[in-house]
Amino acid sequence: MIPFSPPRIDQKTIDAVSDTLRSGWITTGPKTKLFEKKLTEFGGQKSTLCVSSATAGLELMLRWFGVGPGDEVIVPAYTYAATANVVEHCGAKVVFVDSGDDFLLSLNAIREAITSRTKVIIPVDVAGFPCDYEGIHSLVVRPEIQKLFLPSTPEQEMLNRILVLSDAAHSVGAWYKGKRAGSLSEISVFSFHAVKNLTTAEGGAICLNLPEPFDNNAIYQALNIKSLHGQNKDALAKSQAGSWRYDIVEPGYKCNMTDIQASIGLVELERYDNDMLVRRKQIFDAYRDAFSGFEWAQVPVYEDENRRSSYHVFLLRIKGITEEQRDLIISEVFLREVSVNVHFVPLPMMTFYKKAGYSISDYPVAFDNYSREISLPVYHDLTDEMVQTVIRAVAGAVEKVVC
Ligand SMILES: *Cc1c(COP(=O)(O)O)cnc(C)c1O
Repeated sequence: MIPFSPPRIDQKTIDAVSDTLRSGWITTGPKTKLFEKKLTEFGGQKSTLCVSSATAGLELMLRWFGVGPGDEVIVPAYTYAATANVVEHCGAKVVFVDSGDDFLLSLNAIREAITSRTKVIIPVDVAGFPCDYEGIHSLVVRPEIQKLFLPSTPEQEMLNRILVLSDAAHSVGAWYKGKRAGSLSEISVFSFHAVKNLTTAEGGAICLNLPEPFDNNAIYQALNIKSLHGQNKDALAKSQAGSWRYDIVEPGYKCNMTDIQASIGLVELERYDNDMLVRRKQIFDAYRDAFSGFEWAQVPVYEDENRRSSYHVFLLRIKGITEEQRDLIISEVFLREVSVNVHFVPLPMMTFYKKAGYSISDYPVAFDNYSREISLPVYHDLTDEMVQTVIRAVAGAVEKVVC
């Protein structure tokens, strides 16, 4: 069976983790700080804080911005549950918007969803293809939109407009107009979950790129405290001679990254650009070349004049099929010993959000994309031969079900 997304674990990774285990320091410490520095250089943002997951990072930033009951946050219907669940955690209202044919949230739908209660928009770089950040930013600074914004915390007053909090869980390493994911918006959050492009087993990073007069380094320090109980010293600082005394300055959260995780991330990041992304692109190109030859296939766009994907997952669509036919095709693919997936079941179709009153009929493009979509495996250790097996399995399955 060809698996969907196994992590790349080789001797280098194992050695890096062993080194950390033997070093005597396993929680947040020098490896995490080094990983943060390397991520900052890589993405070009102003500062980076590593955390235990993208989910924790997104929630921490909503809390930092003071999002709570009475506020609204715009989230694409077409995303993973984490993007919307964090809004629920904060007691704010999720306002779902529809996507375009490119799987990314639609600018027109955002425009229609903005009210005087909107505090944040969370664009999602689905499959690693960056959203139209210039379009979104021009929208939030339009005088008539900016006038609607009612700040209620010092951070909201300082920004004085809707915050664009990028869910960049898929897009580490992607490009948009000469800039990399991490610096495409004022705040972006990466995921290093086991199935993501760059993994630390579990983990995430908050990329800070806030405009003047925000002090990104000061915000980094404040978030560091917020992510560790509100304690004014981390474990490493406390371990220094005579530094035992500490204070709790707020009831903070607990979502720091460990040095064990960071040591995996350092190995991954070092070979990310020249090795991992190169292989991922080869696999994307092989799928594109093969499926472009089938009339029934709709191949995703993953490069254009402004953007380059991080090649996270290959979102193939089959033309003119129903959701039931798609499910049958997937069963047939599995019978051919290949694992595939669907990214995503739109959130208005999930029990919790359905019960909360959302209806998928309000998001027709998200539904259409979902109902015809099959995500194909993409990872470093997928060989050319395995790629050919995937192509044959999918083509055979489609031809069996629809032709
Ligand atoms: C994986 C994922 C997340 C959550 O990442 P974690 O690190 O597991 O918390 C958030 N958003 C999207 C779009 C994802 O795919």
